[in-house]
Amino acid sequence: MRLNFLSKQSNKAQDPVCLMKVEKDENALNYEYKGRTYYFCSENCKEQFRQNPDQFLS
Ligand SMILES: [Zn+2]
Repeated sequence: MRLNFLSKQSNKAQDPVCLMKVEKDENALNYEYKGRTYYFCSENCKEQFRQNPDQFLS
């Protein structure tokens, strides 16, 4: 495991659908909603969020 602690401290986000921790890298699935960017573990989660974002943000 590399020591990427300091340089990539805020490189994790939480998938609002399944609550899994996901990496915020350039390949990450993301979706912008109300000025915030959300990250997802899979297309499936992203699609669920897209269809009903408010359900996952309350
Ligand atoms: Zn997910």
